[in-house]
Amino acid sequence: MTQVLFDYTRQDAQGASCTAHAWAKVPPPLNSAQRKTVKQRAAELLEQHKAVLVAHYYVDGDLQDLALETGGIVADSLEMARFGRDHAAQTLVVAGVRFMGESAKILSPHKRVLMPDLDATCSLDLGCPADEFAAFCDAHPDRTVVVYANTSAAVKARADWMVTSSCALAIVNELKARGEKILWAPDKHLGGYIQQQTGADMLLWQGACIVHDEFKGLELDLLRAQHPNAMVLVHPESPASVVAQADVVGSTSQMLKAVIDGKAQEYIVATDNGILHRMRQLAPGKTLIEAPTAGNAATCKSCAHCPWMAMNAVQGVVDCLELGSGEIFVDETIRQQALGCITRMLDFVAQNPAAVAQPAARGTVGLTPGMGAV
Ligand code: SF4
Repeated sequence: MTQVLFDYTRQDAQGASCTAHAWAKVPPPLNSAQRKTVKQRAAELLEQHKAVLVAHYYVDGDLQDLALETGGIVADSLEMARFGRDHAAQTLVVAGVRFMGESAKILSPHKRVLMPDLDATCSLDLGCPADEFAAFCDAHPDRTVVVYANTSAAVKARADWMVTSSCALAIVNELKARGEKILWAPDKHLGGYIQQQTGADMLLWQGACIVHDEFKGLELDLLRAQHPNAMVLVHPESPASVVAQADVVGSTSQMLKAVIDGKAQEYIVATDNGILHRMRQLAPGKTLIEAPTAGNAATCKSCAHCPWMAMNAVQGVVDCLELGSGEIFVDETIRQQALGCITRMLDFVAQNPAAVAQPAARGTVGLTPGMGAV
């Protein structure tokens, strides 16, 4: 299998930041009076500019609250893109990481897409540079190219299909049934999980999410022994040793749904801890326990929180609307090419709503419908 090693300090042509740079740019916490003032200012600006705030589950809780209080959304990446595309607002403020802003622009080319900090990127995106990926594709012309949502527009432009964690199993199963061999990028854990579930012939790019890659199987096993009645929720970007212990494997939306609907009192959550804000709001009274990132092999690059997601703050919404900063542009040729793989996925999901339905019960781990990436 081809190995493409991931460099945590890689910088791309647009000057995307490395992990240390990202942590250095995380805004300092504000006191309660400052938080109230800046949130009020952001709400005023969103109204003045007729803009809508589209936020990811992993960003700061105040940003999530601001989005919901001003008619925006807190969601996974696929729903963020759909919401932005379908909303009447001509200015979208996307609080998340850059591929999310790019997806919004690809789907809504005539809208202005702003982000609080354009340096907010993703290790999966950084670890899959377009030129190296193109060479990888060129070396395997007999394979159908399937990429995860967490990639740049330029990488998507080279792909036949984009998938999210909701529809990856169904689409790969379909491709397998057609006799197609797959080139998968960039997440090795999600790709390995799909490969194991479908038996498809998949060649995997070796990227990883620095947050989910940190979860530790041995330490999770010990934690489960301390909480034998807890339900274990795992995002499939996590290592196989962690996924194997899951009661539910799914995207952020599915993990949220599992906590809301679940009969258990305790939940061990293996994804970015930014999602706990929304889980606490929607499932008050339930006990949420972060899955362990510490252990013998710990490097603790993330400690269950994405530094690039953490760069997003309410002040960034104020700044991008006041200054017009942080605008996303996508080259029109690349946009049109990237639109093809996204549209193919959206059409497939629309035509096969039942195909993406997967059970997510103890012992029968599976991805679940209507759930997006990350
Ligand atoms: S949590 Fe992981 S997959 Fe999500 S943006 Fe951060 S690095 Fe990327």
